[in-house]
Amino acid sequence: MIVVEDLHKHFGGFHAVDGASLEIAKGSITGLIGPNGAGKTTLFNVIAGVLPPTSGRVTMDGEDITGLPPHELFHKGLLRTFQIAHEFASMTCRENLMMVPGSQSGESLWNTWFGRKRIADEERALRAKADEVLEFLTISHIADLKAGQVSGGQKKLLELGRTMMVDAKIVFLDEVGAGVNRTLLYTIADAIKRLNEERGYTFVVIEHDMEFIDRLCDPVICMAEGKKLAQGTLDEIKANEQVIEAYLGT
Ligand code: ADP
Repeated sequence: MIVVEDLHKHFGGFHAVDGASLEIAKGSITGLIGPNGAGKTTLFNVIAGVLPPTSGRVTMDGEDITGLPPHELFHKGLLRTFQIAHEFASMTCRENLMMVPGSQSGESLWNTWFGRKRIADEERALRAKADEVLEFLTISHIADLKAGQVSGGQKKLLELGRTMMVDAKIVFLDEVGAGVNRTLLYTIADAIKRLNEERGYTFVVIEHDMEFIDRLCDPVICMAEGKKLAQGTLDEIKANEQVIEAYLGT
């Protein structure tokens, strides 16, 4: 589904991504691991259009998407989750979901003058969709709480929920498990698995928690020094000598 060919991202003279080539299969939950500073987040940001690449190519279903801005990738169904922005913290969790761009037709002048009923209908439909998403994620009880007040894990579920408000095809998740308690971590893992199995989402997941990776990911790609070092099942990766060396070297 995604093919990355000889991708480079340099910051000055520093090569954060240094000739990475890898493939993400449609329907997979691919884990991306590697020591700190391996270039995982930078790779994500380049694929998701947050940072322009220095060189190299990214294709999605055969189409060149290299360097496309996030909103264009968003319309193609490629999403990267982001932390709930500060300005949305005082809105409720339900409202946060309803605000996702692309899930509404926008307030054009035409809508404002002539479309009041249509807007009301749309808002009802959006609200119903947001409630359905909250229920899928087993967090209906936080619908009316302000997003800034819920726990770290619930925020992560909400971030995942935002991808469900649009027709996502592939979702890039950066450390969903960071700072989250075990119970919520399993809820998040379960939601990812169900989105993958029931709705056909493809996922690429950066995660340090090996139990989380073990539960969810096949294949696992290990990066080091800006490039792919190895790919396989987690057991294969753990037994790979180059991988062991890369981790010991940090
Ligand atoms: P990982 O996610 O694997 O820990 P990162 O992609 O965050 O790795 O970082 C790779 C390297 O690139 C790190 O050494 C980091 O300091 C550097 N880096 C990341 N972003 C920038 C930036 N905007 N400017 C300069 N260096 C950066």
